[in-house]
Amino acid sequence: MIQIHRTRGIVLDIKDLKEQDKLITVLTENGKLKLKGKGMKKSSAKLAPYFQLFNLVNIEIAKGKKFDLIIGVQLENSFLNLKKDLSFLFYGFYFLELVNKLIEEEISDPKGKELFDLLLECLNYLDELKKDILPLVLVYFQLKLTKILGYAPQFENCIKCGKDNLKEKNLFSFELGGVLCEKCRNNREGILISDKLRETGTYILENEFSQIFSSKINNELLKKLNKLMQIFIKYHLGDKEIKSVNFLEYANFL
Ligand SMILES: [Zn+2]
Repeated sequence: MIQIHRTRGIVLDIKDLKEQDKLITVLTENGKLKLKGKGMKKSSAKLAPYFQLFNLVNIEIAKGKKFDLIIGVQLENSFLNLKKDLSFLFYGFYFLELVNKLIEEEISDPKGKELFDLLLECLNYLDELKKDILPLVLVYFQLKLTKILGYAPQFENCIKCGKDNLKEKNLFSFELGGVLCEKCRNNREGILISDKLRETGTYILENEFSQIFSSKINNELLKKLNKLMQIFIKYHLGDKEIKSVNFLEYANFL
């Protein structure tokens, strides 16, 4: 008898395999899964339309040789709004690509569930098509993602000596992943970071979206935090390039 199991997933990536097959990468509550969609390149493939980027699907999976096989699917949400608007779509592409490239393998609870919930939460915000929440969603997603993965930037204390009453204009070291006090800074490289920016970063890391949104952080601070996070994440990606980051700037003009 064929063993079938079911899982809920968000479609992160779709690639062509040889012949008529596709390789579908989904984020589940247990990490990333690569599944084979047999014959999905054919226009007659019944399951193919369900496997578009962003789609939240319930998948029936059977054991395969190199990759497990998709044998059934139910669509839960296709995020139709965000797919219709380029700005929101570009933000969405960035989120999918970040998750896909930052996660290498299986992730166990609670991390896997937290990651899944974060991506779903942020896709839902994008699907509301509210332009005023975009700068916050972007910063929120990046900060919470690094937190779940265990390397959130350290904004509060000096990352070397632990000093906590930091004075204005400390250095943020991308290499060490946090702020350095005047004493520890020496010749390290990084960017100067204001108290306000450090406080805002900590505040976002520690609070829920609705609460942060209602506290109305100004866009200049969010812009600076976004820039910091993009460089920060680049450090963690090493050689891997995030292609969709180039669209983000463009998205702001749309
Ligand atoms: Zn120090």
